[in-house]
Amino acid sequence: MSDAAATPSTTPEGLRQADPRTLEITWQDGVTSRFDVRDLRLACACASCVDEWTGEARLDPESVPSDVHPLRIETVGRYAIQIEWSDGHATGIYPFRRLRALDGAAAGPSPPER
Ligand SMILES: [Zn+2]
Repeated sequence: MSDAAATPSTTPEGLRQADPRTLEITWQDGVTSRFDVRDLRLACACASCVDEWTGEARLDPESVPSDVHPLRIETVGRYAIQIEWSDGHATGIYPFRRLRALDGAAAGPSPPER
């Protein structure tokens, strides 16, 4: 799988924790995405959260504390971030393309900001 074809809409210009519950990503196309950190934790697509074969969710949302938050966020190459969570989970990788798609799904098409 190749993520080489990065576009401005899937390339972050900035990433910051806007507040303890919100992760904010600014994209090169001028759009800002805001993510509830617990939603991101629940959207984890690693092998222990999602069954690799069936695509079925293995993560029980009930098992994720309501105050879960990132302890550490690291970039993975040029295409993704890896988040170490306060509940001890650290294997999830969030490709920028997927984050952008998650935001689109939650908020609908964003109006251009410039
Ligand atoms: Zn996971």
